[in-house]
Amino acid sequence: MRTILTAKRLWNGTSFLENPEVTIEDGRLASILSRPSSQDSSPTESGVLNYPEATLAPAFLDVHIHGAAGHDVMEATPEALSTIGRFLATRGTGSFLATTVTAPLDATLRAVEGLTKLIEKPELIQAHSKNGQPIACPLGIHLEGPFLSHEKCGVQPPEHLLVPDIATFDRLFEAAEGRVRLMTLAPELPGAVELTSHATARGVRVSLGHSNANAAQTRAAINAGAASATHTFNAMRPLDHREPGILGVVLTTESLYAEIICDGIHTAPEMVKLWFRAKGPARGILVTDAMSAAGMPDGEYTLGGFPVHVANGKAMARGVLAGSVLTLDRALKNVVEFTGAPLEQALRLLTANPATMTGLTADAGSLAVGQLANLVAVDPKGRLIASIQSGRLATAV
Ligand SMILES: [Zn+2]
Repeated sequence: MRTILTAKRLWNGTSFLENPEVTIEDGRLASILSRPSSQDSSPTESGVLNYPEATLAPAFLDVHIHGAAGHDVMEATPEALSTIGRFLATRGTGSFLATTVTAPLDATLRAVEGLTKLIEKPELIQAHSKNGQPIACPLGIHLEGPFLSHEKCGVQPPEHLLVPDIATFDRLFEAAEGRVRLMTLAPELPGAVELTSHATARGVRVSLGHSNANAAQTRAAINAGAASATHTFNAMRPLDHREPGILGVVLTTESLYAEIICDGIHTAPEMVKLWFRAKGPARGILVTDAMSAAGMPDGEYTLGGFPVHVANGKAMARGVLAGSVLTLDRALKNVVEFTGAPLEQALRLLTANPATMTGLTADAGSLAVGQLANLVAVDPKGRLIASIQSGRLATAV
């Protein structure tokens, strides 16, 4: 099957092309050309999708997401992952890291094993596609826990938190057959620096978070290889002008990537602006931290195994925020609105940057001939106009 896309501009992850004409064959990008503006395709031509005011860009990569559409990734079944993936595809997300929460170690091992089978064989997820609806698939696993701080664990169940331990990490890494791409870790815990070196040597990116670390402890983990920070500001020791703590170091270490949940609930617009000024367009990463209630009405849900109450867009458990109901298309629109960032800088935050940080640039974050045709059309304010995944238009589920 052949589809042609036209738009005002195309951003391929590094540069712009005016008047793009993208040809998709059998779900892959067959050509990306600039057409003379006099040769507009007829809007009625079959197999042609015209977005005359839009910018085409790579589909979004979410490196921190627990679930959506009523399901949690820790269910680790084809049904759960296909339901989550179908919903995400309609919101512009082409791929993601399935993110675990702290749970009993056996439960985490089981979830990781189940997820690994699905990451290795995405056709098991795709088999649940309804009416040819495209499905966003996981590219790897993000372990959020169990090596987190008791003081800053948020809703992560404290009874299952563990002290960093290389043997425990290796069990998780081996259960995932190496598919762990990212691990959140509190750098102040005993053994955290050693585990950061060990995990980094095995190709896992370490992200600092759920932490009450001081500045020196944070710098030690960065020197050992830590690559990013987990939901900057949330579940982190706040800034202090004499002891800058983890947050002061995260915001001022130029090489470090840093996630943010840009929903206007987890972080106020002014703090998103501060984060963007500090990290810049090359190191910021937008994530959702979404849980099963994303895309669902208010009500009672679960995150990992524990109950969460959702009302007015806020997911709460035991009086604290418990993940979000954010989608990346809203995060993009919000970051443009909150920071005034030009669209090409804002797009980097959920395409090129997460792909580069996790080393997944072959599969996400760019547009090149031969790749799966996973892309979005967005307007100048960053609002999603269309989501095309595996060459097919994703419509609302
Ligand atoms: Zn999370």
